[in-house]
Amino acid sequence: MTIANKFSTDAARRVARQKLAEATGGKPHKGQRAFGWKDAEHVDEWEAELLRKARQDVLRGATIATIHKEWAAMGVRSPQTPGGKTIGYTSVRYVLRNPRLCGYRAYIPQEVRERSGRVDPAEYLVERTDGTPVVGKWETIFTPDEWRELIDELESRTSSGTGRKKGSAVTKRLLTGIARCAKCGGGLSSGLYQHGTTSYEKHGYYYYCRVADGGCGKLSRSGPLVEDYVEKALLDDLKRQARTVKPAEEDPELTTVKATLKQIEADKAEARQLRADDLLSLAEFAREIRRLEEKERTTKETVSTLSATPARAGSAAARVVREWKSYSVDMKRQEIQRNIEAVVISGAGKGGAQQGVFRPELIEIVWK
Ligand SMILES: [Zn+2]
Repeated sequence: MTIANKFSTDAARRVARQKLAEATGGKPHKGQRAFGWKDAEHVDEWEAELLRKARQDVLRGATIATIHKEWAAMGVRSPQTPGGKTIGYTSVRYVLRNPRLCGYRAYIPQEVRERSGRVDPAEYLVERTDGTPVVGKWETIFTPDEWRELIDELESRTSSGTGRKKGSAVTKRLLTGIARCAKCGGGLSSGLYQHGTTSYEKHGYYYYCRVADGGCGKLSRSGPLVEDYVEKALLDDLKRQARTVKPAEEDPELTTVKATLKQIEADKAEARQLRADDLLSLAEFAREIRRLEEKERTTKETVSTLSATPARAGSAAARVVREWKSYSVDMKRQEIQRNIEAVVISGAGKGGAQQGVFRPELIEIVWK
């Protein structure tokens, strides 16, 4: 706080207050190196290794508190750690969430930094107009996917309140576990894009191959676009199924039985007429009606058995198509799993996953 000592003007105090806010938030200001780097551009291998190991540990279920305890025991210090002390908990949290790790630039407005010492840099990514993050020129420690995976893991814990056990799904999306990574075959999980980003506004969530679930961690794809594609393909297939059984191609036996049913109706009407005309005694009428009703009951059973067998596939498919919009995610998942073995998604190559350009050729639906 040399500045505050040198000057006593309001301006100097404001600068000091800002620097203090920056220091408690762990944010390195201009000129000061960031944790993980020797200078503005070059990685500090020892600190980078600590960060990589911490990420792996967090994905396996370790808490920030555990990482902090380990680092403190090792005497780890951040560039902002006061003399004679080891790195603080807030700083550990900050350096692990720092978008700088994967090359993304974050900008935290001065007034936000002043308001709170616990600013999350992941919430303040600088984006281009097309929604892609602005990338800095420094050496990186994580890939963007690795960084997002770490953020998702940490975020899923705060949203559920109590530390979530690794591997359990936060939200079961339409294709969770149905969509698979083409590279490693792993079932995909889902995660939320960063709040405030264009990707979040546009798509909300994405599917990705999660290392913590045993996947390769190399794939992520915007959620709604993949879902729309799969839903459309499924509904097209169901419509085709519905069309294959035409009402005209009715089972001949069914036609006969239906005619019998009509005859029974007519016989009942005739019996009633005979009774009304007093040509049938009450006893005869009762016996005749009971006989006809019994025949009607067994005939109706035959009708429902016959119409249930061959025509059912078609009419069931038609019903699903008709009612699809009112289906819950669980009901849709069931219907998808009845028809689809897996949805295999291939990587778009470097940078392709974040562009928001939908490429159906990278999605393969494996039908049952
Ligand atoms: Zn994978």
